[in-house]
Amino acid sequence: MDFAPSYTPEQEAFRSEVRAWLSEHMPKTGGDLDSDENYRKFRQLGRDLGKRGWLRPTAPKQYGGGGLDVASAIVLYEEMDAYGLPIPPYYDSGGWLGGASILVWGTEEQKQRLLPPIFTGDVVTWQLLTGPEAGSDLAGTKTDARRDGDEYVINGEKIYVGGSHGADQFWTITRTNPDGDRHKNLSWFMIPANLPGITVRPMELLGDGGEGIGAGVKNTVYFDNVRVPAANLVGGENNGWQVASTHLELEHGSGGSVGRNRWFTRALRWANEQQRDGRPLIEDPEARDRLVDIFVLTEISRLFGLRNFWMNRTHQPMTYEGPQSSYFRKLSGLKITEALHSLFGPYALTHDERWDFSEGTLDAYQRSAIVALHPGGTADIQKVIMARRIGMGREERESAGKTVE
Ligand SMILES: Cc1cc2nc3c(=O)[nH]c(=O)nc-3n(C[C@H](O)[C@H](O)[C@H](O)COP(=O)(O)OP(=O)(O)OC[C@H]3O[C@@H](n4cnc5c(N)ncnc54)[C@H](O)[C@@H]3O)c2cc1C
Repeated sequence: MDFAPSYTPEQEAFRSEVRAWLSEHMPKTGGDLDSDENYRKFRQLGRDLGKRGWLRPTAPKQYGGGGLDVASAIVLYEEMDAYGLPIPPYYDSGGWLGGASILVWGTEEQKQRLLPPIFTGDVVTWQLLTGPEAGSDLAGTKTDARRDGDEYVINGEKIYVGGSHGADQFWTITRTNPDGDRHKNLSWFMIPANLPGITVRPMELLGDGGEGIGAGVKNTVYFDNVRVPAANLVGGENNGWQVASTHLELEHGSGGSVGRNRWFTRALRWANEQQRDGRPLIEDPEARDRLVDIFVLTEISRLFGLRNFWMNRTHQPMTYEGPQSSYFRKLSGLKITEALHSLFGPYALTHDERWDFSEGTLDAYQRSAIVALHPGGTADIQKVIMARRIGMGREERESAGKTVE
């Protein structure tokens, strides 16, 4: 991989096109970025991106994706990142991971029916994996799906789910054979969120669901005799662990990411604006020391993310790269909060207007960096997976999950 990528004239022309389009379509927002009003604007931006195939840039065109090559997709992500936004510009975990899993494991009929609404931004989908009884041991889920004619009847409970503005559908792993062997008794469903018997209740947690529009709240979802069409079972009955290997591979970091090291940029700006002993903080040697720490951590995370994005989208064989990136990002989040803390002092983490120059973002980051050790596989789980893939504790190295058809 070229670590100093250069772009062809065609890709630069594409960048100009994207930049011009975004400056015309980017919504004007004010106040709380995650308010109902702003959320509606970002959902519309998602639909507008979807019409051009830019909401899922590398997904196949015939299912509503953009069919773009990896370099053009990176250009698109970079231009969105200049506005501080990912693609999609709102929380859609089940769309990203469910969509990719359906591409690998769905039937042709399911791809044609389920993927276009996801890839063009018509629907928002939450992933529902964690059960109160299972947690990291996903295969131990006790949410049951029992076949009854052309439907499955679902009962159970999923926690830590979703976001702040509701969803249209749920991408969910269930147990389809309570007496079956472990890993051979699971199945995935795409479940319309408005079916009778579904209740969604917000949870009270230390941190929110993360930095991002629509991610602000986590919920518990209860299934009480929910009848789901059998046509919505994806990947075959009791074949759910294979489907999970695709979903988890991407969620554990193999999907990669494109983006700048935002926390360094912010910290640098604040260090220029803040004063210490009557002089700009940036002139303090200790402050410079901390800023370099933040730069190194965020830069390594950015490069791991970019490497994985490229490897995944160009279908390179992958092993430990996903959990390596995820583990590093989780632990460096803690170290970055520590460095920010020592740069700006403990008062910067309060909501007192005399000190809070970051308008609450430092305080929110402090809490979310702690919470971020958990989602998408905890830091310990990333370490366990990495160990298996670099040949520790096993005769044969574990291979990565399948992420391509
Ligand atoms: C902000 C946030 C967002 C989330 N989003 C979602 C979501 O969208 N959908 C969803 O379904 N879930 C979501 N989750 C839930 C998340 O996936 C779980 O919290 C996670 O899988 C861990 O499960 P648990 O909390 O039950 O912890 P447990 O599994 O009970 O783990 C407790 C501790 O034991 C350690 N541990 C467990 N097993 C092992 C092992 N084999 N080896 C070493 N250590 C181990 C863990 O690392 C942890 O420190 C989210 C969680 C958070 C905090």
